[in-house]
Amino acid sequence: MPRERILIVEDDAVIGSELLKALSVSGYEASLARTGQAGLADAHNHPPDLILLDLGLPDVDGVEVCRRLRAELPETVIVVLTARTEEFEVVVALDAGADDYLTKPFRLTELVARLRAHLRRRGVVPGDTVLTVGGVRVDLPGRRVHAGDAEVPLRPKEFDLLAALVTRVGEVVTREQLMDEVWDENWFGPTKTLDVHVSTLRRKLGTFAHITTLRGRGYRYEREVAGEK
Ligand code: CA
Repeated sequence: MPRERILIVEDDAVIGSELLKALSVSGYEASLARTGQAGLADAHNHPPDLILLDLGLPDVDGVEVCRRLRAELPETVIVVLTARTEEFEVVVALDAGADDYLTKPFRLTELVARLRAHLRRRGVVPGDTVLTVGGVRVDLPGRRVHAGDAEVPLRPKEFDLLAALVTRVGEVVTREQLMDEVWDENWFGPTKTLDVHVSTLRRKLGTFAHITTLRGRGYRYEREVAGEK
């Protein structure tokens, strides 16, 4: 089996070489790009399984790099690296297609564990049925979603999240369960990843989205909505 390929886009020479070393030692085929342009070119020439993307780059805005990578590589896992102070940037990056984020400073062991979990989760099929709830049709094996008659394009994590909710329609699914099932953590501390993915799902499903927020607890996908049969 070929080794999984990880592209690191990081301009800081010290952090970049530490990441390169840690990921190579962990058995990945890792490469390092020092600018956004170099990262985009590398990803284009050798599509990676996962991209570790620093948001503070010297040439192209990191969020813009993220958006372009996502447009070209819909199946690649993108994890962004950000400074602890840049919370708004994290939300914007998740909106632009990142699957997850890590804040600097981070422990290398933690980072490697997190990336490994992401790679392990890829392509995991959550079930073998087609579920229809309130006008939304979720084809679990085909990983396709229709709202009404229209197909809704979802990214892998968005699909996994919707599947986790819809397979337990009418039940509360806790934040911890969702983080564990969809992101397979190794999860530490509060994270905006889940909330941003839920709001993206709501936006993409539009009036068909029947996700109720239970503050501090989790989410529930509603079986029936008032006025619907
Ligand atoms: Ca940087």
